[in-house]
Amino acid sequence: MDLGVLLRSLIPSLQSVYVLVSYFVYLAVAGELLPGKVIRGVVLSDGSQLRYRCNGLFALTLLVAILGISAKLGIVSPLVVADRGLELLSATFIFCVLVTLVLYISGRSSSDKTSSLKPHVSGNLVHDWWFGIQLNPQFLSIDLKFFFVRAGMMGWLLINLSILAKSVQDDSLSQSMILYQIFCALYILDYFVHEEYMTSTWDIIAERLGFMLVFGDLLWIPFTFSIQACNCVFDNEPGWWLLHNKVQLTVPAIVANCFVFLIGYMVFRGANKQKHIFKKNPKTPIWGKPPVVVGGKLLASGYWGIARHCNYLGDLMLALSFSLPCGISSPVPYFYPIYLLILLIWRERRDEVRCAEKYKEIWAEYLRLVPYRILPYVY
Ligand code: NDP
Repeated sequence: MDLGVLLRSLIPSLQSVYVLVSYFVYLAVAGELLPGKVIRGVVLSDGSQLRYRCNGLFALTLLVAILGISAKLGIVSPLVVADRGLELLSATFIFCVLVTLVLYISGRSSSDKTSSLKPHVSGNLVHDWWFGIQLNPQFLSIDLKFFFVRAGMMGWLLINLSILAKSVQDDSLSQSMILYQIFCALYILDYFVHEEYMTSTWDIIAERLGFMLVFGDLLWIPFTFSIQACNCVFDNEPGWWLLHNKVQLTVPAIVANCFVFLIGYMVFRGANKQKHIFKKNPKTPIWGKPPVVVGGKLLASGYWGIARHCNYLGDLMLALSFSLPCGISSPVPYFYPIYLLILLIWRERRDEVRCAEKYKEIWAEYLRLVPYRILPYVY
């Protein structure tokens, strides 16, 4: 693609700003007003617990219904995202920079002493802006961390649906596109069905809200996880990868692809569910047997007895299954699984350090019982 054209298509138009702002306003209003299970977060170091209204599935279903009806009535074009991908990407990037500057300034000036809002200032501007200053900053009583991750996951589905609409319009709907769309839609819907599990994940409990997390949630998740379907930068013209690349899949390849997805899903969801249930009630049977517990705190049976992060293994298999429909002619659609592999290995190392500090000899005993990190007998 010509550099001039690329740069011009990165300048956000008023329409893309309008799309983005409307999206955030909808999510804020829906998040506050729609009914949903209210979940208590993990106990923070000062003994406090945040509350999260898990109504993401309702908010997403309603949004897709509203957009579908509006598209039918000609009020909204279903191609608005697919056609304005680069503009929306740059508008989102600008938003991430602005919002994290505000978070930096408000965090620095906070005198709050609670675990959620206590400022952690290193004095290094770039470090504090990148990693964030406060654990759970809020705006109009909305928990921003929970809000941004929700916006990113829904945004990923909306991008995919818009690309789907474009491929239908272009008469280029392929088996690969259908497989990719089904796998991602199931993964994203499943995320919202189990949204409450998010409240005990590393991002929510351990990471402060800075540019790294905001950018990761709002831009990285929706725009790069959809690279299989899209390829804005590397293609000859702005467009989407599967829209511009024909892939012929054999029946065994499709079956194998579905298999990778299903096994990945089973391991990913099973492992996360076992840990979540264990944290709520450490006596709940795992795979029909009483759980093996180390020091009364760590689960060492089920998936957590096979490897210390089987949930990462499942997630990696799922990520691979999203890329396999694109065949192996190009490395570009494999961006997401490769990135996730690097991220999860890095994260697993950081989590080990945190757990070793927190659980001390209990953790050492767990390491003896479960020697593998992610992939049994390999890593
Ligand atoms: P985990 O859900 O694995 O949480 C790690 C924490 O769980 C530890 O800090 C510890 O916290 C607790 N823990 C660890 N081992 C045990 C055990 N044996 N028994 C009981 N508790 C234990 O990690 P993440 O939050 O990183 O990931 C959650 C999910 O999100 C994963 O499936 C991951 O794949 C996915 N993910 C996806 C990303 C993507 O980009 N697609 C990015 C990041 C994550 P505590 O101190 O509370 O005990």
